[in-house]
Amino acid sequence: MKIKLPILFYHKIHEPRPGARSINLYVPPASFEQQLRYLHKRGYKSISLKQAIEKIRQSKPIAPKSVAITFDDGYLDNYEYAYPILKKYNFTATIFMVTDFAGRDNSWPHSKETLPERLMSWDNIREMAQHGMSFGSHTCNHWNLNKLSVDEISRELVRSKRKLENELQQEVISFCYPYGEYNSQVLGLVEHSGYLGACATEHGNRHTPDDIYTLKRVFIWHDTPMWKFGYYLSSFYDYEHTRKQKRKALKKRAATD
Ligand SMILES: [Zn+2]
Repeated sequence: MKIKLPILFYHKIHEPRPGARSINLYVPPASFEQQLRYLHKRGYKSISLKQAIEKIRQSKPIAPKSVAITFDDGYLDNYEYAYPILKKYNFTATIFMVTDFAGRDNSWPHSKETLPERLMSWDNIREMAQHGMSFGSHTCNHWNLNKLSVDEISRELVRSKRKLENELQQEVISFCYPYGEYNSQVLGLVEHSGYLGACATEHGNRHTPDDIYTLKRVFIWHDTPMWKFGYYLSSFYDYEHTRKQKRKALKKRAATD
């Protein structure tokens, strides 16, 4: 049985900046507020990723009208714009931090971004953690893990986890793959490094214990209209993507047969 839980997936809560390459990574603060107001009015409550992972691992259902909110990379605008709106509507979120870049620009190796943007400082991170927000690891350096050696992958996984745990004095149990890239070796090392679950970039909102290291999410685009936001929360969204993925797999198999 699949367990329904939309895990919303954001990067930057800001108006798209002129000259930015990936406009889809921006959700304007007014749209973000409209989305949280929508959830709040309809009785949605946030569940922490930690609780969600525990439930999914045990195949236990999650209360209907639950939602998990995630942000990748840890941009300063998450603190400046998203955090006050989250507090206003009583939602919590998990932010996947690139730990070596806290307080710095997002100029990590192989970044496709042309515009440098600032990440949160450890002071910002600690303040949010003290007020109910959670943090997960997005590695130390935002490498594509598929391209690293076993030792390098392990270092990225273990060192980022330890850094977050030392700064926050809390256990860090969730992980998220830079560029959404992983292979079976990476999955094994994430588990081995002590993470209990991980978010991927595949789309969907229903989960099984087998997906615990590749949790599907709901990508919110910079111009997602509200009718579509509502659709993203429904099971139909998951049916559509499961069907698409099956079709893709069949095509791939047919091509290699
Ligand atoms: Zn990222």
